[in-house]
Amino acid sequence: MRHLADFDDTICAISTAPGEGAIAIIRLSGQKAVSIAAEFIQSKKTLESLEVNHQQFARFVYQDETIDEVMVSRFQAPKSYTGEDMVEVACHGSVYIQHRILQVFVGAGARVARPGEFTQRAFMNGKMDLSQAEAVADLISSRNRMAHKVAMRQMKGEFSSKLEQLRTRLMDFTSLIELELDFSEEDVEFADRKQLFDLLAEIDKEVLSLSKSFELGNAIKNGIPVAIVGEPNVGKSTLLNRLLNEDRAIVSEIAGTTRDVIEDTMVIDGYEFRFIDTAGIRESTDEIETKGIALTLQKVSRARVVLYLFDARADETPVKEALQKIRNEAGEEVPVILVANKVDLLEHADKNYEQYFDGEDVISISALEERGIEVLIQKLVEHGTRGLENEDQLLVTNIRHVEALQHIHEGIERITEGLENQLPGDLLSFEIRQVLDHIADITGQTITPDDVLGHIFKNFCIGK
Ligand code: GDP
Repeated sequence: MRHLADFDDTICAISTAPGEGAIAIIRLSGQKAVSIAAEFIQSKKTLESLEVNHQQFARFVYQDETIDEVMVSRFQAPKSYTGEDMVEVACHGSVYIQHRILQVFVGAGARVARPGEFTQRAFMNGKMDLSQAEAVADLISSRNRMAHKVAMRQMKGEFSSKLEQLRTRLMDFTSLIELELDFSEEDVEFADRKQLFDLLAEIDKEVLSLSKSFELGNAIKNGIPVAIVGEPNVGKSTLLNRLLNEDRAIVSEIAGTTRDVIEDTMVIDGYEFRFIDTAGIRESTDEIETKGIALTLQKVSRARVVLYLFDARADETPVKEALQKIRNEAGEEVPVILVANKVDLLEHADKNYEQYFDGEDVISISALEERGIEVLIQKLVEHGTRGLENEDQLLVTNIRHVEALQHIHEGIERITEGLENQLPGDLLSFEIRQVLDHIADITGQTITPDDVLGHIFKNFCIGK
């Protein structure tokens, strides 16, 4: 078993969200969890004699003072979340009570847990692999239905078991090649090179499709990226506010851990939409002009859907030119919705744009008077969510996994090349071992020094 310096400590933390609530849960995990908690628990049965996985009513008493009436549960190693002995105290959710209980535990010898330390211990004790542990973090932070679903699948270990299958098959080959080395004088070939070649191609195909799924996975986890672009003063910020104020939309401003800018998001039908660089939209138009078109194009290149806004009274030629620029930047496959704004200012309100923009999606709105917004949202959902619901596809949502997959792909290229150039067995086996290690990096089976682990788990909240 891998050891962290203070792996033997008994840790404690408030595991419910910070602040006041109806109830709060304080968790203890480690060898002394039961003995520490037992000192302060008064109930019909002592904590030591309480059946495991059961809950009972108790008084939490410190130096003759009843701090709260609580429900206490006991879990026994290895059948607990962390794989260690655990106690959970559900108290009333006053911030004072929560902290008091925590203090009492610390005074009795427990240590306050670091962020993610409970899950880290679960990983260390073999309760889950690394990719599953990471899924716990994703699950906790999932803000929409799809993100929840993806995290749930990963937590169940589908991603890991897929990789594990590939790893085992590749491992078999290494063993055969390494066996050949033992018989080097006899010039035998146990590992069928053709089969190895085919297996590598198969793994590579899988790896590339998983890497590619990151774009989709990311859209689900962090929101479907939407760019709102157009000339200054066409009404972008007015539209943004309209969209965010839709009553069925949940509006939030979140500073995500992987994002350095604050972006607006809204959830419609369980899908989260993230508007890229909304700060840019809100800046004064002067500033947008000075930063110029480059900024807009950069935004477009990150989008899954582009809304191009123009003044309904405008001539169609510059709109077509702008559309072409966007297509060049974003790629033909990224849908662009043309939005003719300020239709309230048109003399002939029934101006038919379709005739000017053959085959394009054109929607007429008045952001100011709230006309056409519903139709626009429908189009946004239709384009933005296309392909997201593919049930069979396993999605990668984690940048660490994408990096590992990239290493695997590069390794496979080297092995394939080596096979073509009849690389000697020992070198071949070295390259294969590297790929095996990269696969194991994802599930955390091999090289996971403390600093790497610490980095992964620090993004968790305390108490998880
Ligand atoms: P941005 O520079 O593209 O973000 O444009 P703004 O949203 O700041 O809008 C520029 C001006 O156009 C403001 O005075 C808005 O009130 C006005 N505006 C926006 N949408 C409409 C609309 O649908 N109809 C009319 N008449 N005015 C609008």
